[in-house]
Amino acid sequence: MNPEPILKALGLEQHRQASSGLPVHTPIDGSLLGRVEETSAEELPAIIDRAELAFLQWRQLPAPRRGELVRLLGEELRNHKQLLGELVTLECGKILSEGLGEVQEMIDICDLAVGQSRQLFGLTIASERPGHRMAETWHPLGVNGIITAFNFPVAVWAWNAALSLVCGNSLIWKPSEKTPLTALACLGIFRRALARFGDAPEDLLQVVIGGREIGEGLVESRKLALISATGSTRMGREVGPRVAARFGKSLLELGGNNAMILTPSADLKLALRAILFSAIGTCGQRCTSLRRLIVHQSRADELLQALEAAYASVPIGNPLEDGVLLGPIIDAAAFERMQSALQQAREQGGEVVGGEQVREGVPEGGVYVRPAIVRMPAQTEIVREETFAPILYVMTYSDLDEAIGMHNDVPQGLSSCIFTNDLREAEYFLSARGSDCGIANVNIGPSGAEIGGAFGGEKETGGGRESGSDAWKAYMRRQTSTVNYSTQLPLAQGVRFDLD
Ligand code: NAD
Repeated sequence: MNPEPILKALGLEQHRQASSGLPVHTPIDGSLLGRVEETSAEELPAIIDRAELAFLQWRQLPAPRRGELVRLLGEELRNHKQLLGELVTLECGKILSEGLGEVQEMIDICDLAVGQSRQLFGLTIASERPGHRMAETWHPLGVNGIITAFNFPVAVWAWNAALSLVCGNSLIWKPSEKTPLTALACLGIFRRALARFGDAPEDLLQVVIGGREIGEGLVESRKLALISATGSTRMGREVGPRVAARFGKSLLELGGNNAMILTPSADLKLALRAILFSAIGTCGQRCTSLRRLIVHQSRADELLQALEAAYASVPIGNPLEDGVLLGPIIDAAAFERMQSALQQAREQGGEVVGGEQVREGVPEGGVYVRPAIVRMPAQTEIVREETFAPILYVMTYSDLDEAIGMHNDVPQGLSSCIFTNDLREAEYFLSARGSDCGIANVNIGPSGAEIGGAFGGEKETGGGRESGSDAWKAYMRRQTSTVNYSTQLPLAQGVRFDLD
C-alpha cells in the first residue's frame, strides 16, 4: 500500500515528509501516513478573530450568491471524489465503497444547500392590530465551530458546512485528531471553490488541528455563536453545559444504541441483508450501527442460524480491496474496549460467537476482528452502553409492547427500525407510543440515512438535527418583526396607555 500518490494528488505531500507534528497512522496496517502540525492555544484567538472578520464580510452577500460557492464546492468534490474517498479509507479504515459513499453524501448535501440558499424563508403572521404586518426573518448567526468524530471524517463536516455557509456563517473546523489529513484535503478542495468564486473572504473556513484541548478552546470562546459537535456522549456531556454556560448555541450529535425489532411476519431475507450492512458496515463504527436485535421468540433460532452463517462468510481484510466488506477497527484501544464489553456480556449471561482478532489473510499491523453476535438473556447493563465495535446483542420478546419497552429502555435515542409485514405493527412503532428515536424505519436497517431528512436523535444522542428538512434553522437566528403602516398606535392585548 503506497499512500504517496493520493496524498500528492490532494496537495498533502508535505505532511508525508514532515518530521514533527501529530502523527497520523492508517488503521489498515498501522503505518505512518504523515505528520500534521497542531494548532497551539496561543494561535486560536487570532484564528477566531479572522473568522469573525470573514463572517462580517460573508453575511453581506445575498444567500443565493452564497449558494453559488457551495455549488462550486460540490463540483470540486465531484472532481475529487475518487481521491478523497481513497483517503477516507486510508485514514479511517472503512471499505472503499463506503469511503466513496461518504464523499457522495458531501456532494448531495451541497446540492441540497444550493437549493436551500433560495429558500431561507420565514413566516408572515397575522397581526391582531389593524394596519400592522408581522413577519419573521432568518439572519446569519456568526462564527460556527464544527467538531467532528473520526468515523465520518468528511461527511459530518459537509452536512454542517454546506448549510452553514449558505446561511451566511464563517467556519472553524476541528476534525478528530485521528483524521486530520482528510480535513486538510477538504480545506484544499474548498479553497479551489473559493478561488473560482472570487469575492469570498479567504478565512471563511479555517481548520484547527489537535485533540480535545483545542476543541475546548472553541467551546469556551464567546465569539463562536454555534458549536456543532459530533462524537461520543462523554464529549457532549462536557461540551453542552460549557456552551450553555455562556448562552451559546450548541448542536449535539452524539452516540447511538440502535435497535431492530424483528417480528413474526418479518421478511427474513430482507432483514438479514439489513442486519449485515448495519451491524458490520464501517466495522460497527457508525453512530447508527445496529447494536441490538430484539427478535420475536418464534423467529430467534431460525434467524440466529442464518445470521451466524452469514457472519462466517463475511470477507475481512484490506478495505481498499474489491470484495472486502469488513476493514480494520480504528485502533488497538477500540479493540480493547470491544474485548472488555464482550467479557462483561459473558459475565452478564451472554453467549458470544466471534469477536476475536483475525490475523490470517489481513494486512499485518492493523487490528482486524471477527464481528460478534451475543445472545443475551435480557437487556443487561453492557447492552445499554454504546461500544463502538461490531458487536450485535440479540434478545428475544413475546409481545410487541415488551419489545418496544426494551427498545426504548436505553439512554441513547438515535436510530431504530422494525421489520414487519403487519401494517398495525409498523404504524404502532412509528406512533407516539412506539420508537423514541430521532430516526425510525420500517423494513430498512437503522444506518445509511439519506440527506433529505433531518438527521439526529433524542436523549443522550444530544437532540441536534443536521442535514435536510428544516435543519438549516440551527445555523441562523430568528427575528420577529412587526411593521405599523397605519396612523394609529394600537397596543397588543388591547392595553390602553393614553395620557388623556
Ligand atoms: P470522541 O467523542 O472521542 O471525539 C469526537 C470529537 O470531539 C473529536 O474531534 C475530539 O477531539 C473532540 N473532543 C473530545 N472531547 C472534547 C471536549 N471536551 N471538548 C471539545 N472537543 C472534544 O468521538 P470519536 O471516537 O471520534 O467518535 C465516535 C463517537 O461519535 C461515537 O460515540 C459515535 O456514536 C459518535 N458519532 C455520532 C454521530 C451522530 O451524528 N450522532 C456521527 C458520528 C459519530
